[in-house]
Amino acid sequence: MNLILFGPPAAGKGTQARRLADEHGMIQLSTGDMLRAARASGTELGKKVAGIMDRGDLVSDDIVIALIEEQIQQKGADKSYIFDGFPRTVAQAEALDALMRRHGTRIDAVIRLEVDEARLIARVEKRFKDEGRADDNPESFKVRLGRYNQDTAPLLPYYQAQGKLNGVDGMASIEEVGAGIDKALRGVKRQGKKAIHAG
Ligand code: ADP
Repeated sequence: MNLILFGPPAAGKGTQARRLADEHGMIQLSTGDMLRAARASGTELGKKVAGIMDRGDLVSDDIVIALIEEQIQQKGADKSYIFDGFPRTVAQAEALDALMRRHGTRIDAVIRLEVDEARLIARVEKRFKDEGRADDNPESFKVRLGRYNQDTAPLLPYYQAQGKLNGVDGMASIEEVGAGIDKALRGVKRQGKKAIHAG
């Protein structure tokens, strides 16, 4: 089973992706984490993306698509993946569909964390104080939310049309959000079995 965790910045995708990876033996692929790792190790790629990330803008599609493809090639398409923070544009979603098809697999479900933007801003202010992530400062966060609404929200009709979209309330506690995701996944698995029997 391959999943996309979808939602605006700071919706809690990373937290839930790590939990799913631990509890369900899935592999978390976070382009944000990969880019931060590239910066921390001072690679050419890291230097190239640093300014873009700190501003809150999106790194180019080819860079993140290449990072994801590399991971799937290395780890194998027979594994179960959770995509977190990717895809973020329709071009990335199309590239992901094509890549999965080339490797004989597919995206099974998209879990959308439904959140309230005003309350997200409060969450990020707290995360900025606690963790000091440069792109959590109020100016960059405004850019990230704007990018999400402009470039990433159009993925909702894209996945809705594929019948893969599942909504989960993202404003509840971490445990409750986790339970909501697990429930949605059980529904997806049941649907999958039905489809096999019907086909
Ligand atoms: P968030 O908390 O906003 O979900 P991430 O950790 O996913 O943050 O990403 C941090 C930054 O890394 C983004 O603001 C962007 O600059 C870059 N980035 C991560 N994933 C992508 C992607 N799929 N496409 C373009 N840029 C990305």
